[in-house]
Amino acid sequence: MSTTTALDVTALRARLDRAASAAASAGVDALLVTPGSDLRYLLGVAGESFERLTCLVLPASGTPVLVVPKLEQPGYAAVPTDDLGVEVAAWVDGEDPYRLVTDLLGRQGGGLRRVAVADMMPALHVLRLRDSQPEADQVLAGPVLRELRMRKDGAEIAALRAAGEAIDRVHARMAEWLRVGRTEAEVGADVGAAIVEEGHTEAAFVVVGSGPNGASPHHALGDRVIEPGDVVVVDIGGPVAEGYNSDCTRTYALGEPAQPDVADTYAVLLDAQRAAVRVVHPGAIAGAVDAAARDRIAAAGFGEYFIHRTGHGIGLDVHEEPYIGAGSDLELRPGMAFSVEPGIYLPGRWGARIEDIVVVTEDGVQPLNNRPHELAVLPA
Ligand code: ZN
Ligand code: ZN
Ligand code: ZN
Repeated sequence: MSTTTALDVTALRARLDRAASAAASAGVDALLVTPGSDLRYLLGVAGESFERLTCLVLPASGTPVLVVPKLEQPGYAAVPTDDLGVEVAAWVDGEDPYRLVTDLLGRQGGGLRRVAVADMMPALHVLRLRDSQPEADQVLAGPVLRELRMRKDGAEIAALRAAGEAIDRVHARMAEWLRVGRTEAEVGADVGAAIVEEGHTEAAFVVVGSGPNGASPHHALGDRVIEPGDVVVVDIGGPVAEGYNSDCTRTYALGEPAQPDVADTYAVLLDAQRAAVRVVHPGAIAGAVDAAARDRIAAAGFGEYFIHRTGHGIGLDVHEEPYIGAGSDLELRPGMAFSVEPGIYLPGRWGARIEDIVVVTEDGVQPLNNRPHELAVLPA
């Protein structure tokens, strides 16, 4: 269980207030938030979901209540409930926590019309809440909370920046581990340890896609032995203590690439990634960021080999809103943080991706990853 260290009560209070007004504007009677990153965003503690219901009941107007099994209550001791104006309703086995939630909602009067459940709430709880509140429509809380979570405040951006610097330090050390004759899994184990050494609380993911495996964007780690001339995609990240994540890809070569088309193809990718970052500024449309990368890759004849969106938001989750994909009409605003990560994947041969996290500033864009973007040639 993780605790937010750097968040003050004022910031959390403001989030609870803004979430309640967002619920009101969305015509939702209450947000029902089970453990996870939404809960961490609102209370500073992510908690953990079990078969026993833990749920923040956040009405559009009225007092928020944390419903928690008595035996899990110590895990929430760090939440400054009194200062936040959050009541705690502890329940014990034999009581019906779904009925408890429904009764708490009933205190508002006026009947229940619509409740918003956390996107990642286990079905076990969703369905029992539905049975307990048959008159209420259940909708997703994600669209209500996204306006808040997409726009990072100063402390959130500082945490993302620290995460970006930490993952840059890991990429800077890649030659220590990425060597000919080692397996992807061996390299990945060392890289994972370095992710923690350099300031993360854990390695959330380690992708080492060597040679043909680089053509599979989410290839994790395998037993393939790295050979001279291999191109290797290394995509790594994890959270720092504040809970905010890094996510950065660089592509390496072990000596002169064995495939003859690497230099020309990589140049297309590099141009595409830079062009997409240049589009980012307040008022720009997310779809235009995607198009800047995609159009260049397609114009060079590789359109069918760029098989994913250009980026995803990042924060308490590695993948969150805003998604930077074809056709998205979302307008970028200051404080939004997301990846710009085009790739070219040639099945059975090799692949490459370049990924930076960028933040939309008041007047432009700031990358949080600053290692060189060129193909990084390591000794073969
Ligand atoms: Zn990914
Ligand atoms: Zn990413
Ligand atoms: Zn990544």
